[in-house]
Amino acid sequence: MSVPFFSNAESFKRQSPLLLGKLDEIIDQGLFTNGPVVRELEKELEVFTGAKHAIAIGNATEALMIMLKAVGIGPGDEVIVPSFTFFASASSVAHVGAVPVFCDIDPITYGLKTDELESKISDRTKAIMPVHLFTQMADMQAIRKIVEKHKLLLLEDSAEAISMFCDGVHAGLVGHAGVLSFFPTKTLGAIGDAGMILTNDDEIARHARRLRIHGQDEGVSYIHHDVGYNSRMDDIQAAMLLVRLKYLQNEIAKRAYLARLYDTLLADLPEVQTPVIQKREDTANPVYYVYLIEAEQRDKLEAYLKEQGIGTETYYPIPLHAQPCFLHLGYKEGSMPNAESACSRSIALPLYPDLTEADVQKVSDAIHTFYNRRG
Ligand SMILES: *Cc1c(COP(=O)(O)O)cnc(C)c1O
Repeated sequence: MSVPFFSNAESFKRQSPLLLGKLDEIIDQGLFTNGPVVRELEKELEVFTGAKHAIAIGNATEALMIMLKAVGIGPGDEVIVPSFTFFASASSVAHVGAVPVFCDIDPITYGLKTDELESKISDRTKAIMPVHLFTQMADMQAIRKIVEKHKLLLLEDSAEAISMFCDGVHAGLVGHAGVLSFFPTKTLGAIGDAGMILTNDDEIARHARRLRIHGQDEGVSYIHHDVGYNSRMDDIQAAMLLVRLKYLQNEIAKRAYLARLYDTLLADLPEVQTPVIQKREDTANPVYYVYLIEAEQRDKLEAYLKEQGIGTETYYPIPLHAQPCFLHLGYKEGSMPNAESACSRSIALPLYPDLTEADVQKVSDAIHTFYNRRG
């Protein structure tokens, strides 16, 4: 029996009957985008995260772009981002006309390497945008100190970080603004694209709400204060997310349980480094969105697991400073050793609430077989 990298089919099927009532409501109302159900989801996420404003957007990539524009970032500005992250963390900066400045990562948390950050600051630097990857937040205490010292903006690509809190503050709200992604594979996934901006700042929120719909104020469609976007969330996605939100804590607990099982089963393999949750002075909780290991002979392991019917993903195979579209920025190979090492060694194993203990055992057995045979 194969183990796909991701499948929420069972959970979705169990949960979707709850969607049907909402679906009737949406059809009766005839408001399908940025409508009343989207508003309901925004309210729920304001409660869940503690954000003063949760602003629904079509997806998190556009949420990043709108957030950057809403805080006034544009041509001539630089934004410091990690080199090891999802493409949108940097493409969003380029899309608003600013320049992404790449920084190396911490090899344990995969967050920004804080002792390298200050060397990246120039007189064009407007913001630092840490990314919270896979299981844990970047070192926000250290980053916030640097941001305050240099009077910069602190923005968070918290797309993966729902339910991660640091000292009681939800990811995305440590700085000026952050985002959430509800892409189907994310910890809280929709049945299509959806995203959100989180902020406690009234001005940023007002600006972001305009930017998501052609620079208009709500209900006044003929005055364009900004050259905005069209990035609305569908009410059907909001309805599904309202249903799925009820199961979120249980699903996060299941993910943590399965992650601990992997930790235990893989502990005897010297070729495999399982995830390490960094202890700091702050109180940050891990959330296992992705179970990422670093492995010897990563590419061969990936191919072997595929032969065995086990799906994996490499997050992320190429550091952003080496992507063809960013080569003009002039970064040299070897300039970000931790990011480059993570790209060549990391591989994500299947992890989702529908995964069974037997599935985890099967993945672990296959990894053991691979190393015994070739180790
Ligand atoms: C998923 C993700 C995004 C983009 O989210 P979409 O909703 O797919 O546009 C951005 N940044 C990070 C770190 C992500 O993991």
